[in-house]
Amino acid sequence: MDWILPSLLALAFVLQLLWHQKKRAELRDEIADLNDRLSESNARMSRELAAAAERQATLFDRMIEGVLILDGGGRVQLINATTRKLFGLDLSVRGKRLLEAIRSHELHEIVMEVEKSGHVLGREMIIKAGFETRCLSLNASSFGESGSGEGVIVVLHDLTKLKAVEKGRREFVANVSHELRTPLSMIKGYVETLLQGEIGDPMIRERFLGKIQKHSDRLTYLIEDLLAISQLESNQIAVSFARVPLRNLVDRAFDDLHDRAMTERVKLESSIAKELRVYVDPDRMQQVLQNLVDNGIKYGGRDGTVSVEAELREDCWVVVRVGDNGPGIPEEMHDRVFERFFRVDKARSREQGGTGLGLAIVKHIIQSHGGQVWLESGSESGAVFSFTIPTEAME
Ligand code: ADP
Repeated sequence: MDWILPSLLALAFVLQLLWHQKKRAELRDEIADLNDRLSESNARMSRELAAAAERQATLFDRMIEGVLILDGGGRVQLINATTRKLFGLDLSVRGKRLLEAIRSHELHEIVMEVEKSGHVLGREMIIKAGFETRCLSLNASSFGESGSGEGVIVVLHDLTKLKAVEKGRREFVANVSHELRTPLSMIKGYVETLLQGEIGDPMIRERFLGKIQKHSDRLTYLIEDLLAISQLESNQIAVSFARVPLRNLVDRAFDDLHDRAMTERVKLESSIAKELRVYVDPDRMQQVLQNLVDNGIKYGGRDGTVSVEAELREDCWVVVRVGDNGPGIPEEMHDRVFERFFRVDKARSREQGGTGLGLAIVKHIIQSHGGQVWLESGSESGAVFSFTIPTEAME
């Protein structure tokens, strides 16, 4: 019986060994499983991080503002598409020092100041990129405390268009004041002379009164045209489209200008098919035709002819041409004639009661119909103004 106890002990030992081996195997499986899950979650996390970084980069690139982030060492860490476009750079600037990436000492100095002071800094600066000059508003801020060297973020807004609009507005006000001042000072001068009562000759008095009337008319035209321009620019009057025969509009413009044409011995001609209909605001289109035909009479010269023709294009747009056989307009001024207050011959325009706004009004009206207007002929063959208008309702 002596063998029973050792045998039992040996059996217990073997059983324990087997149990341990099983447990170890189970543990190994568990660790392997854990490892699998860990690397899967790592892969998922790095995929998510990459997607987030891509989303952030797309977001930065789509921003209207320029964004530039510099790391603590002053190297370009992030530069979005707008900043690259503003300074004419490519992606290779990433990782470079600021001055190597963007050759602007002004920007460099601002960044240094922000880094040193830790303050937010706002400035306007002018940059040259290629042939273009741009005006930028810049805001720079450091990430950490002053001198912590954690990096700087710069946000840029392109103010070039805004500045051009401001300049245009200032010039417009200056032009309007100038245009108003001239006839007013003339009227004042004639009235003062008449009031002094020293002009006995009734013929001269009448001539002076005629001048006063002419300059008051000029003021009236100017104010009417200014009102028209401001209403068109602020879209105050809705365009009310209708399908109307083009010939009726031309005939009405000819009727209104009949006396003026007679005085200048100018022939008014039109060759427009009766059935040609256009989809326009009749009152505004009337204004366009009147301005162009009136210019033809005014500048085309005595004994001339002003003709209006129209042609239906395949794309359902009508091209209208208003031409005269006067001196025309020099080629180099073709683009400028549609600008407000631009006159080829200043003296002649003023003499004829011109305001310098007629063609600007024409351009506005045509554009509000979705069309285009341009000057076709060069000098000496007369001026031909062409414009397009729709025949069908626009989308
Ligand atoms: P204005 O009131 O002076 O006529 P517009 O804007 O109608 O102003 O025209 C601008 C300028 O273009 C005119 O001052 C004139 O010098 C020139 N112009 C316009 N139409 C003609 C034309 N048919 N022939 C020659 N010059 C023209």
